[in-house]
Amino acid sequence: MTTRAQPAKRKAGPSDNAAAPKKLRCSISERPSLQSDTTTVFVGRLSRAFPVDNKLLRTSCDFFHDQPLTKKGKHAGSKQVRLPDNTIRAFELYLGWLQTGCFYIVAEEDADSPLSDYEPVDHSDRVGISPSEVEREKWYECYLLGQNIQDHNFQDACIDLAQEKIASGNQDMMIAACRFYKTSPIDEAHRKFAVTVAAHLWNTERFELVTRIDYPKMFLEELVAYIGPRLRLVTVPEASKQTFFKNAGCQYHAHTTLKKPCYKETHPAFK
Ligand SMILES: [Zn+2]
Repeated sequence: MTTRAQPAKRKAGPSDNAAAPKKLRCSISERPSLQSDTTTVFVGRLSRAFPVDNKLLRTSCDFFHDQPLTKKGKHAGSKQVRLPDNTIRAFELYLGWLQTGCFYIVAEEDADSPLSDYEPVDHSDRVGISPSEVEREKWYECYLLGQNIQDHNFQDACIDLAQEKIASGNQDMMIAACRFYKTSPIDEAHRKFAVTVAAHLWNTERFELVTRIDYPKMFLEELVAYIGPRLRLVTVPEASKQTFFKNAGCQYHAHTTLKKPCYKETHPAFK
């Protein structure tokens, strides 16, 4: 993609008017709100605060819009949302995606970065993992964030990101897809993605390893149900990772089952 639309600009209010005011003395009742139109999102166990423009938060889903205002304390009247079970880096990726439609996820220094910046407890045993594995973890954390805030558009974009990564020959993403089964509820189209990836893109060694890896039971059941009948007809050939998703379109997108438009139609970056 060569062009990136910027998020819709806030409508100019009285305080935004660059032209000289006609008069300096104004009625108190005309004063623009001193409250900025933001929601503060507290993310992760460290509760890092992200003040985010409400219009940006409404780009893709209504989750933040639907949260009640804070009623008590010094922040009374402002909106605060807590996402303790999601990671800071996933939320940062989400904000980038809301603005541009892209995932700013690749970092050369990932393998050596101090993971304690994110979640010291969860990642204490992950020192020295490869950049590819870090990227896979971030990707899954994004999917979980999408699940938590009910943003199926973001989850569909995660599916497309996985396709792009798999097309580059990445094995990690191929085995990560079945982790969708650990979330609940899991969308039918996303399950289909995980099963299709395994059926057509796993190589022989990957299938031989199946008893040594703790795959979700439901995933294995659906994989057998997919492969079994086709085996009789010899129609489960191993496919090319580079070309398999070429015409995938929306067949692995949750919006197809939800009967809603694709994020590629609604996200400002794709218009
Ligand atoms: Zn779609």
